[in-house]
This record gives sequence, C-alpha cells and structure tokens, in this order.
Amino acid sequence: MRVLVTGVTGQTGSYLAESLLRHDHEVIGVSSTDENLVHGVDHHAADLTVTDELEALVARVRPDTIVNLAAQSSVARAWAEPVDTAVVDAVVPAAVLAAAARLRRDGVDCHVVQASSSEIFGTVPSGVADERTAVAPTNPYGAAKAHAHHLVGTYRAAGLRASSLILFNHESPRRPGRFVTRSIARQVVDVAMGRADRVTLVDPTVERDWGWAPDVAEAIRLVIEAGSAEDYVVATGTTHSVGDFATAALTAAGVPHASERIAVDADQVRPTEVRSLRGDASKLRSALGWAPTTSFEGIVQAMVAAEFERAVVRA
Ligand code: NAP
Repeated sequence: MRVLVTGVTGQTGSYLAESLLRHDHEVIGVSSTDENLVHGVDHHAADLTVTDELEALVARVRPDTIVNLAAQSSVARAWAEPVDTAVVDAVVPAAVLAAAARLRRDGVDCHVVQASSSEIFGTVPSGVADERTAVAPTNPYGAAKAHAHHLVGTYRAAGLRASSLILFNHESPRRPGRFVTRSIARQVVDVAMGRADRVTLVDPTVERDWGWAPDVAEAIRLVIEAGSAEDYVVATGTTHSVGDFATAALTAAGVPHASERIAVDADQVRPTEVRSLRGDASKLRSALGWAPTTSFEGIVQAMVAAEFERAVVRA
C-alpha cells in the first residue's frame, strides 16, 4: 500500500514508518523537519497548517491511506498555546479529511486514519473508556482532538473511509523530553550518576494507562491493512501512577531507598487534570488480534537504559 504518514518524525510516526517499511508498504512522510527521519521514507518537509500545500501533496501522491499523526501533542503546551494547538490538532485533520474526500470524488478510495486521544474523554466516572464513552474533554488539547474525532465520524457518515484510533498514553525512548515519563527517566539517571539528589514530580498520584509506542504503531499498521472504517481504543487496560513510574525507574537504575529520592513540587498542578483513566481495547483485540507486548516495568527499564546511553554519549 502507499501510505502517507503525517508527523512521521514523531515518536509514534517513526515506529510506524519502520513497521510499514518492514511489511513492504511504501511510506511517504510529512513533518516540519527531517530530524530523526527513518531511512526509506520518502520525506516531504512541510508545515501542514498551510492547508493548500497539504491538499496539493495529497492530490499528487494519491495515497491508499493517510495516517494523520501530526499534532501539537502536549497537554501542558496546549494550555499555553491553545490557538496553535487548535490549528494543528483540529484544522489540519479537517484539511486531511477534505483532501481525502476530494480524492474519493476523483476515484481514489483513500482511508483516513486519525490519531485521536484518550484526552477527548476527560474525567470518566467509571474510570474506564471504550469507543462508546461520551466525549467531554477538560483541556484545549482534548477539545481540539475531540473536534477532529467528531469530524472523522461526520465524514464517515458521508461515505468516506475514515477511522479514529483513540490512543492512550504511550511511551518509549523516543518520547520528546517535555513529557513526564522522559523527564523522570532523565532525572533518575542524574540521581543514579550522583548529579542530583532527588527526582521532582508535580502530581505523583495521577494515573495513566501507559503503553509501549511500538505496540501502538503495530495497532495502527493492523488498522491500515484491515482498511475498514472503524474507531478503536488502543490501550493496555491497566494504570500506574506517576509516582509508580518514578519508583520503578529509580529501581531500574539501581538507586536504593527509591521512595526517599522523590520530591513533590505541586506549584504546577493542573486543576482539570484527569486523575485516572484506563482504556478497554477489547474491540481492537477481537477484531484484529492486537495485544500489548511490553509490560509497564519493561517500558520503564527501556527508557532508563536509553537515558543512561544518552548520558554516556553526552559525557
Ligand atoms: P510527537 O512525538 O509530538 O510527534 C508529532 C509530530 O507532528 C512530529 O513529527 C512533528 O514534526 C509533527 N508536526 C507537528 N506540527 C506540525 C506541522 N505544523 N506541520 C508538520 N508536522 C507537524 O507525537 P507522538 O507521540 O508521535 O503522537 C502521535 C499522535 O498520537 C499525535 O497526534 C498525538 O496527539 C497522538 N497521541 C499521542 C499519545 C502519546 O501518548 N504519545 C497519546 C494519545 C494521542 P516536527 O517535530 O518536525 O514539527
């Protein structure tokens, strides 16, 4: 298949590109820069918010599938930059869907796969969400993703093959440094190397359903290959707290008395933060046989090991 992947240089996009190439698909990638680009991707550097250029690219490439991963993907940054977030996370998906609808009118039955987010749900009373859970975001990132999520349903009802993958948090050594897990891994390595005393957390009791980014990439590939217009939750079904993450990371780094090495700086706590949410991926499991491969501890260990390697390279 010819697959156009936006956000191909991001954490998930890079793993997806590797998986698609391994499975003999052609990958055309778009992102602002070519930093961390996977070898074998036909890359186009473009600012997707220039929607005329996006439309021209889609018309030229005529892909079988467009996977829209490009995003301003940080909840914290969305509060600081709500307008830019709305443009990248809500307007760009509208342009992607409109471009695919135009292709369809020209006889190309293009499948759009949109990266949606658990943040569209906000706080769910039962603490678990699936594809039927009400959409009620509590931050600007979730609101922009919710708009895109509804647009996917709208275009699907109008006949376009369009799918939303409702991704829960997923992590890896490729997670950018502004995210909590990568920040913890970096701080833990500083403690282990004697360069810091403690790991500082903002909100240690917040819980997330943390998956492994390469597993999420595999879920996306399965959806691309299946080709049907369906929404799926992609999640592990288990939660751990930020404090659990820090404790596991300190243990993985061989730091004794982990609990004594954690400090809390609650000044930056976000009042509408979702306290805990896990995803129910039964639909994806039974339709496409997807299952997570890597445990929470395995994710933490991989991130800490990668951070040690980075520290050695820096030294
Ligand atoms: P990421 O690492 O932040 O990557 C974002 C990608 O989008 C980068 O390649 C970036 O390219 C590109 N991008 C951003 N703005 C752009 C623009 N204006 N024009 C062109 N490219 C642009 O995100 P990720 O972790 O891979 O996540 C992938 C998708 O899943 C995102 O849509 C995210 O919102 C969603 N999601 C992620 C998680 C998670 O836990 N990771 C959870 C739920 C949903 P440059 O760096 O070159 O700008």
